[in-house]
Amino acid sequence: MIMISENIETVKNKILLACEKSGRNPNEVTLIPVSKTKPVSILLEAYKSGVRLFGENRVQELCDKYSQLPADIDWHLIGHLQRNKVKYIIGKTKLIHSLDSGDLAITIDRESKKANLITDVLVEVNVAGEESKFGLSPDETLDFVKKTSKLSHLRIKGLMTIAPFVADPEENRPVFRRLRKLSVDIARENLDNVSMYILSMGMSNDFEVAVEEGATFVRVGTAIFGAR
Ligand SMILES: *Cc1c(COP(=O)(O)O)cnc(C)c1O
Repeated sequence: MIMISENIETVKNKILLACEKSGRNPNEVTLIPVSKTKPVSILLEAYKSGVRLFGENRVQELCDKYSQLPADIDWHLIGHLQRNKVKYIIGKTKLIHSLDSGDLAITIDRESKKANLITDVLVEVNVAGEESKFGLSPDETLDFVKKTSKLSHLRIKGLMTIAPFVADPEENRPVFRRLRKLSVDIARENLDNVSMYILSMGMSNDFEVAVEEGATFVRVGTAIFGAR
């Protein structure tokens, strides 16, 4: 039996240590337990131990779990979002971490307007330039943010990246550092309707390095819920 609450404590303690090491305030870092592929019973166990936010990477799965679990949960969509699925999740997410194209932004804006609400999003950046990954290149991100900030029913709250899968998490330090620098550069532009407070980076393998480099959200699945 997996001890979810113990695993969460372990991860939180590692976050605390990473904050101490880098002189950061632990209150600035939020752990998002990533529950994708795990059954509702497991999420409920986490809920009972106090978890009130979950990360999911598929629309269908998020909607299924949303309808079966208590209403006081914040749902984070962290995986690639197809335009034709947007209508199903508008109003259900606390934050969409994976805005990766202008067409998707327009769709999110339109569906949010129809629902009379504003959807918070992060811009996904493919810092390492991996072909297998979604996200904007660092060079095109500022222009994209400028254009997207003109949409009325969507709000950019920061940046997200999925770092490469590496054996040694230290290898991803430059990736996290680059995302943080990019967010600082964009924040300096003082764009209307844009904030850069959120940096969503770091997963089970590398979240400590990500915290040291400024992550405000870490997305951790395996280290909490076990292998998928
Ligand atoms: C699955 C997933 C995670 C969590 O990955 P682990 O290595 O299991 O911690 C984080 N972010 C995204 C976008 C994911 O799809």
